[in-house]
Formats: sequence, structure tokens, C-alpha cells
Amino acid sequence: MAITKTDFMRGMQCRKMLWLDKHKPGLRVIPPEVQERLDAGNAFGDQAMGMFGPYEEMTVYRPGTTIPDKKAMLAKTQDALARGVPVICEAAFSNYNNYCAADILRKTEKGYDLYEVKNAPEVREQFIRDAAFQNYIICRCGIRIGKVYIVIHGQDEANPFVPVDVTGDAKGYFQWINDNIWDLNRMQKEREEIRTDPGEQCTIPYECWYYGYCHGGNAAVSEESMV
Ligand code: SF4
Repeated sequence: MAITKTDFMRGMQCRKMLWLDKHKPGLRVIPPEVQERLDAGNAFGDQAMGMFGPYEEMTVYRPGTTIPDKKAMLAKTQDALARGVPVICEAAFSNYNNYCAADILRKTEKGYDLYEVKNAPEVREQFIRDAAFQNYIICRCGIRIGKVYIVIHGQDEANPFVPVDVTGDAKGYFQWINDNIWDLNRMQKEREEIRTDPGEQCTIPYECWYYGYCHGGNAAVSEESMV
């Protein structure tokens, strides 16, 4: 059990959130409007795959499910890289079992540019961290990443894919990711439930799906809150 991009983003919002994902995922309550937003984001991401013309998609599902087969995706990505495919979508990488799948990799003279697609009208800090995690994993796999872009949803619905260059900021997070990824790895394996008081992190940057659990009086409370 290592850290995926989603694990990292959730664990950095709140360590307890990541722990609950691993040990008590049945406590999640995803509001319908949030699920709608997630579905719309996935649809926008699917459309964006073609923004540079022909592409190869690396997604592979376990037979009879919609669960990604990460091992098969990693192998398929290595094959695409070896063949020099110009645009690779959902390209999968793993480093010490830490894992990410990049929305779009576009071949350049010296390596690849990385595109993270977000169905939002502007770039937000958490998007940059998200792309930064991918840059970290991919670079540690020995692939040279040139530019890093967030593709936002522009106003022209005929051509809504607007890449914004966030290279400097995304690469600036490299050490921060390295400083936290191993701690999250260790923490998520702990047997005892992580004790964290509810606070600002319960809604920023995203409302937590365990909000009801932690605010409803059934959660493990920290020693500080019992004083
Ligand atoms: S509700 Fe708050 S304290 Fe509980 S897991 Fe979520 S972010 Fe953490």
C-alpha cells in the first residue's frame, strides 16, 4: 500500500482523511452535487484527450470492472514510451509503489510536457500541487518533464481547453512532496485511528466526505479536545 496522487492530495488536506480512506472508507458520504461535479470533470478530461489530435490512452480496467488495472497500465505506458508515441493519455508511473496517472503527456525534443486537465475556469493552488505530484513521480521514473500545464475550462465551448503554464510553481513543490510522501506512507499504515480535531481543513480546499463522522460525535477525539 503506497501513495497515489489522490492519496497525497487528501492526506495533505488532512492526515485523518487519508487514514479513514484506507481503514474505514464505508464512512464516506459523497453529496450528490459533488458526485455530479466529479462526473462532469471526468467527462471534460475525456474530451481533452483529443486536444492535440491523435493519441493513445493507457487506461486498462480489471476484467468486468471499472477499477483501473495499474500493473497493466504501467506496462502499456512503458510500451508507448518505447515506441515514441507523441501524445499519451492516462500515462501511468510508479516509484517505490507511489503511483500516478498523468492526464496527457506530449512528446517534445527533449522529453515530455505534462498536462493536467481541470474542469474549472481558473488555476487553483491545489491543481498546481496535483500536477507537481505527477511531475515528482514521473521525474523519479527517469522521464524528463519540460513544461507543466494546467488545462482549464475556457469560455469558448467550441474549443474550451486552455493550457496555463505552471512549470515554475509545479517544479518548486518537488522537495515539499519528497518531504511529505514518506510520512503519509507510514501514517496510512498505522493501526490506531489518527486523532485530528475538526477545523478549517474540513472544508478547505474541499469539503471532506467524513464531515458527518468527525462532527457527529462518533469520532475518536484528540486528547487536547478532551481537556
Ligand atoms: S472531517 Fe475534518 S478532521 Fe475529519 S477527516 Fe475530514 S478533514 Fe479530517
